[in-house]
Amino acid sequence: MTAASAPSAAPALQPADLLGLDAQLSDEDRLIAETVRRFAADRVLPSLEEWYEQGTFPTRELGPEIGELGLLGMHLSGYGCAGTSATSYGVACRELEAADSGLRSFVSVQGSLAMFPIWKFGSDEQKERWLPGMARGELVGCFGLTEPDSGSDPASMKTRARRDGSDWVLGGTKMWITNGGVADVAVVWARTDDGVRGFLVPRDAPGFTTHDIHRKHSLRASITSELVLDDVRLPDDAVLPGVTGMRGPLSCLSEARYGILWGAVGAARTCFVTALEYAKSRPQFGRAIAGFQLTQQKLVNMMLELQKAQLLALQIGRLKDEGRVAPQHISMGKLNNVREALAIAREARTILGANGISSEYPVMRHAANLESVLTYEGTNEIHTLILGQALTGESAFA
Ligand SMILES: Cc1cc2nc3c(=O)[nH]c(=O)nc-3n(C[C@H](O)[C@H](O)[C@H](O)COP(=O)(O)OP(=O)(O)OC[C@H]3O[C@@H](n4cnc5c(N)ncnc54)[C@H](O)[C@@H]3O)c2cc1C
Repeated sequence: MTAASAPSAAPALQPADLLGLDAQLSDEDRLIAETVRRFAADRVLPSLEEWYEQGTFPTRELGPEIGELGLLGMHLSGYGCAGTSATSYGVACRELEAADSGLRSFVSVQGSLAMFPIWKFGSDEQKERWLPGMARGELVGCFGLTEPDSGSDPASMKTRARRDGSDWVLGGTKMWITNGGVADVAVVWARTDDGVRGFLVPRDAPGFTTHDIHRKHSLRASITSELVLDDVRLPDDAVLPGVTGMRGPLSCLSEARYGILWGAVGAARTCFVTALEYAKSRPQFGRAIAGFQLTQQKLVNMMLELQKAQLLALQIGRLKDEGRVAPQHISMGKLNNVREALAIAREARTILGANGISSEYPVMRHAANLESVLTYEGTNEIHTLILGQALTGESAFA
């Protein structure tokens, strides 16, 4: 037997899952994966390039359908939420982002950034008022933390909420807010005399306006908006009673980042599979480009990183389901998986040659999307600093 020949008894290997990691998932997880894949194939992918070109996402139409699948706030319990494991939620994010990061962003923001703070820190009345409709996808939420001058350092926010009698009056601007222009309720984080608090701002609150951000080169099938709060008067019970301080928004970000570290695996898988198929069918110099050693090296490196990213996601999912996950674990996953997904997307683009820049193939769209995913929910640099601090005990943030 030569070194290059393989034993014949081994089961057929799946290129995108060479280690057979999907076998580690439960039957329910696999069913969720299959359901989301089918939904994306039937309801999203046929129109996706059109939405992407137009820079839009049909929230009102797709929201209720996504809600019907049980994907909105799916890892929360009660109030019409599915109450699945964290791993199931991760698998759903993976399959959503295998279609498009914008689709996964809609679900992440709704479930992890808008529903989660209401579920975790809200009063019973707030939960009853918002969560069931949001789980059904009939009501849309957004999460306003970032400001024009306050991104990686959200504690420097200028948005302020002051007391006026028993009311609150909010003033400030939030920037780069996913779902902002279509949201029925904005979870807005603002500075108060007691520290940062979360407020539920209904769409029709006088003084509250939104402006969508156009001319994006990334995450185009997703609504991104500016929120303007011009002396928005809210009743006493608009504040989330259960949290004060940056712990509030940061705990929501941990939830959303968890979904992202799985989602990135989906985007990377789509790029890898597209490049592999293309390489096998594209002839140059009289043979398929898959036969060239340099192409094989690219494909092998992509496959290795894809599998490592999936392993990381699985382990972090297990830790989360066991209640043992730390923010640093989530930083590991977000940092590694988005970075490697972007590298895979770029490498896949080269294998497709000129076709790599065409919307006939999904690769350039994923590569462009992943540039946003690299930045939001903590940039690579910020997650590096979180991990650097965990290793050394030294904070290098400022
Ligand atoms: C498509 C999209 C959707 C978004 N959706 C939302 C949303 O729904 N809600 C929301 O609140 N926000 C949202 N954001 C905002 C996002 O979270 C911020 O863009 C992100 O936190 C980074 O902030 P910034 O863009 O202001 O960059 P900055 O903070 O200005 O950073 C610029 C660069 O400096 C680096 N840097 C900053 N500080 C340090 C440091 N201490 N050491 C080393 N390097 C540093 C950063 O890593 C980055 O490379 C979204 C952004 C995008 C692009």
